Amino acid sequence: MRYNGLIDKYREYLPVSDSTEIITLCEGNTPLIKADNLARKLELDCEIYLKYEGSNPTGSFKDRGMTMAVTKAKEEGSHAIICASTGNTSAAAAAYGAKAGLKTYVLIPDGYIALGKLSQAMMYGARVIAINGNFDNALDAVREISKNYPITLVNSVNPYRIEGQKTGAFEIIEALGDAPDYHFIPVGNAGNITAYWKGYREFFNLGKSKQLPKMMGIQAEGSAAIVKGHKIDNPQTIATAIRIGNPASWKQAEAARDESKGTIDMVSDEKIIEAYNLLASTEGVLAEPASCAPVAGLIKLKDTIKPKSKIVCILTGNGLKDPDCAIKYAKSPVEKTTSDIKDIVKLMGL
Ligand SMILES: *Cc1c(COP(=O)(O)O)cnc(C)c1O
Repeated sequence: MRYNGLIDKYREYLPVSDSTEIITLCEGNTPLIKADNLARKLELDCEIYLKYEGSNPTGSFKDRGMTMAVTKAKEEGSHAIICASTGNTSAAAAAYGAKAGLKTYVLIPDGYIALGKLSQAMMYGARVIAINGNFDNALDAVREISKNYPITLVNSVNPYRIEGQKTGAFEIIEALGDAPDYHFIPVGNAGNITAYWKGYREFFNLGKSKQLPKMMGIQAEGSAAIVKGHKIDNPQTIATAIRIGNPASWKQAEAARDESKGTIDMVSDEKIIEAYNLLASTEGVLAEPASCAPVAGLIKLKDTIKPKSKIVCILTGNGLKDPDCAIKYAKSPVEKTTSDIKDIVKLMGL
C-alpha cells in the first residue's frame, strides 16, 4: 500500500478520528542511515545511525509536527495559522498551510534565516514578516497575536506539534527492533527533544521496546540557555535553527534529560562546522549546521559512551537549506581551468 504520511501510519497513537481530514505531504518514514565510516573515524566500537530528517517534504523534521498541527487547525475550523521561526517552521507551516488552504503568517528574525528556508516560505505563498528582533521576540509576538485574534499558533508550544514529532521515535524503534542506547539531538526551542522522549516512553509503555535511550540534547555554545541555567538575551550561533535564548520547552527538556539519565551539553560553532564537513565527506550526508550539533556532541562525549552501544543522531534538517554556509565552509574549493582536455587532466593530476 502507498505510504500516505505519518498520521495515516500511526493514527492509533495520535489525536485524530476516522472523520478527520488529514493534511499530509507524505512526511515521515525518513531513512535511518548506518554510519560505519563515521564510527571508524571516531574510533567508536558502536553502531551509529543517522536519522535523516532532511528527506521530509520541506526538508526538515518540522513537517512531522506541522501535518498534525495543520490537520487539527483545519478540523477545528481555523482559517489562518501563524508561527515564529528560525526558518524551518516557516517553511513547513507555509507548505501545509498551502495544502490546507489556510492563510499563513510567519514571523522571522530579519537577516538570520537561511536562504533556502526563506525561499520556501515565499514560494508556498505565506505572508513573510521579518521583524527587527530575534526568534524569542518573534515567539512572544505570535503568542500574543494568536491569543487576541482568530489565528492558530503552530509553534511547538502547540501540543499537536509534539504529537506529530513523537513519531520519529516510533520509526527508530521499528527500524532497530528496540530503542537505541543513546539519542543525540539538537536543542533549540526544545520541542523536539520533548517529542522524542514522549514517543520513546509511549512505545516502551506499550511493550514495543525493551529499553529507553539516554537523551543527549546538544545546544550551541552561544545559545546554550539550558546548559548555562539562564536565558540568553542575545543568542549567537552559526546554527541559526537553534539560535534561541529562551527555549519554550525548557522544563520538558530538563525532564527528558533527568528521567533518561542523559545530558544536555553544548558545542562551539567551530566544532559544529567540523562535524558538518565530516558528515558530508565521510558519510555522504549533507545536513544543515544545527543538525550537525548532535554529531559534534557525540564527538565531544565519545569517551563517556559504552562500547557496543547503539547511537542515533537526529539530523533535523537538509544541508541544502543553507547553501551559503556550505560554500563558505566546504573543504574543497572550486578549481578553475580552460576547456582544453590537456589542462583539465593536468589539473586532475593524472
Ligand atoms: C527547529 C530545528 C531545531 C530545533 O528544534 P527544537 O524543537 O526547537 O529544539 C534543530 N534543527 C533544525 C534543523 C530545526 O529546524
